[in-house]
Amino acid sequence: PAKTLPDSLRETAEQFGDGVAIDFLGKTITFRELWKRVQAFARSLQALGVKKGDRVAIMLPNCPQAVISYYGALLAGGIVVQTNPLYTEHELEYQLNDSGASVLVTLDLLYPKAEALRGKTPVKHWVVTRMQDYLPTVKKWLYPLVQRKQKMPSVQIEENDAVHWFRSLVGQNEGAPLPVAIDPQEDIALLQYTGGTTGRPKAAMLTHRNLIANTLMCAHWVYKCEKGKETVLGVLPFFHVYGMTTIMNLSVMMASKMVLLPRFDVKQTLKTIERTRPTMFPGAPTMYIALLNDPDLPKYDLSSINVCISGSAPLPVEVQEQFERATGGKLIEGYGLTEASPVTHGNFVWDGERVKGSIGVPWPDTEAKIISLETGEEVPPGEIGELVVRGPQVMKGYWNQPEETAQVLRDGWLYTGDIGYMDERGYFYIVDRKKDIIIASGYNIYPREVEEALYQHPKVQEAAVIGVPDPYRGETVKAFVVFKAGETCSEQELDAFMRARLAAYKVPRLYEFRSELPKTAVGKILRRTLVEEEKKKLD
Ligand code: ATP
Repeated sequence: PAKTLPDSLRETAEQFGDGVAIDFLGKTITFRELWKRVQAFARSLQALGVKKGDRVAIMLPNCPQAVISYYGALLAGGIVVQTNPLYTEHELEYQLNDSGASVLVTLDLLYPKAEALRGKTPVKHWVVTRMQDYLPTVKKWLYPLVQRKQKMPSVQIEENDAVHWFRSLVGQNEGAPLPVAIDPQEDIALLQYTGGTTGRPKAAMLTHRNLIANTLMCAHWVYKCEKGKETVLGVLPFFHVYGMTTIMNLSVMMASKMVLLPRFDVKQTLKTIERTRPTMFPGAPTMYIALLNDPDLPKYDLSSINVCISGSAPLPVEVQEQFERATGGKLIEGYGLTEASPVTHGNFVWDGERVKGSIGVPWPDTEAKIISLETGEEVPPGEIGELVVRGPQVMKGYWNQPEETAQVLRDGWLYTGDIGYMDERGYFYIVDRKKDIIIASGYNIYPREVEEALYQHPKVQEAAVIGVPDPYRGETVKAFVVFKAGETCSEQELDAFMRARLAAYKVPRLYEFRSELPKTAVGKILRRTLVEEEKKKLD
C-alpha cells in the first residue's frame, strides 16, 4: 500500500514503541518518544503557517533534532530541503532562494550564517536548536565550520516572532497535527541538491514513493534487515541523500537503532563501534581507508559489523579486502546518485556472487543499460557507454529546471552521466564520469584507472587525478597524492611504479604531494576543486 515516510515512522512507533530509535553520543530516545516529538514539531510548523508543499530547510549535522525536523516537516505536509552545514553564506543564499524555503531549522552555532541573510531570502521563521551547552564533540566539529577559527564564538540569540527555540516548539504543541492529504506517488517529499562535484547544485525532486522504494530495496536486498533487531552506525551525514536513505529512513522503517555521530572522526568512530556494537555501517571509501590506516585499529573490537555498504565513489579492491578482514563482516560496493534516491546497483550480499570491482547488478524493480555516447542505442556487453537507469526511485525532475530535466530524464530513463559497461552476466562496472574524462593527445584517459594504479602503491593513502591544460597535448595528467602517516616517496619512484602498470599516455606527468585532499560531506574526493585550483594558478 502507498505510504508516506511519516506513515512508516508511525507504524514503527506503534509496533516497536519501546525500541531505541536514536543513540546520540550515549543519550537515547525510543520510537514512541520520537513519534511524539515529530508530531509536536509538525503541529508547531503548522502553527507557524507551514502548509502543504511549503519548503522547510534543515541545516543540521546528525543529531536527534535533524531526524525530528525531517519527519516533522513531512508530517506537516511540507517539503524538506536538506542544507549542508558546511555551506558558505553565498551557497546557503542560493539554495534558500532557489527552493523558496519559508522556514530554516538550524543550530545556534550556525545561526549567524542564516542571520546574515535576513531579508535576502524568503525565510520567515528560524528554528534554532541549542547545542553549545552540552556536546563537546559537536562543538569540536563546528568550530572550523562557523568561523574557521579554533575558538568557540558565543552566539546571542533572542527568541521572538520569527526566531524560535526548537526545544520550546517541541515542548509546546503536543498531540497530532492537522491531517494533510499526501499522494505518495506524486507529492514531493524532498528537494535534495546534488553533491555539486561537477557544477552548480540542482535540486532533485524526490517523492515519498521514490524514497520509500529505495529504502525498502536497501533494507531487503543488501541488508536482509530483521525488523527491530539491527543497529546502524550513522556517521554519513543525513543532509546527504546517501546517509538519509541508507541510515535514517532505513532505521525508521526497519525499527533499527541509529547511532548518530555528528562528524566522521576516526577515533570517535572506532570507540562508538565498540560501545554500540552496530550490525550495519554504511560509509564511503575514504572513511574505510581512514579507519584502516589508524594504527590502533587492531585494539578495537569491530566484530559486531555484519554488513557495510560503500557508495558515492569507487571502492578500491584492496580496501574492501582489508576492511572485511578487520571486521569479519561484508563490505559491499553500491552505486547511486542523488537523482535516484540514491541507490540503483549493489553487489550481492547473501545470494549470488559478488564480483570485486563491480557495482553489482541493478536492484529489484530497477532497469539499467549502457548506451552508446554517439548513437544513444544500447551497446552489447563489454562495450563502454553511458549508464542509464529506470525505476521507482528515479526523481520526478529538477526543481524549476525543465531544460536540465529534459536532458537527464527521457522516457523515464535517467541519464547518469557515468561511463561504464556491463559484462556478459549482467554485472555493471563504472569506468568514470563523463565530465572527468581527460583527453590527452587525442587519447581518452579515465582518471579512475590512474587513481586505482596509484592506490596499489603501498605508501599511498589517497589519490586524485585530473587533466590540466597542456599546450601540446591539449590536456595532461596530474596526480595529487597523500601518503600514509610517516611515509613519503619520490616522484621518480612513483613514476617507475606507474610506468610498470599503465600505458605511457596514462602515466601522470605532474605530481603534487599533499597532506589532505578536498572532500565533500560524504568524503568524496573533489576533483572539481583541484581543477579550479589549477585554473586559478594559470589566471
Ligand atoms: P554532481 O551530481 O553535482 O556532480 P555528485 O556527483 O557529488 O555531484 P551525487 O549524487 O552525490 O552527486 O553522486 C553521484 C555520483 O557518484 C555518481 O554519478 C557517480 O559518479 C559517483 N558514484 C557513486 N557510487 C559510485 C561507485 N560505487 N563507483 C563509482 N562512482 C560512484
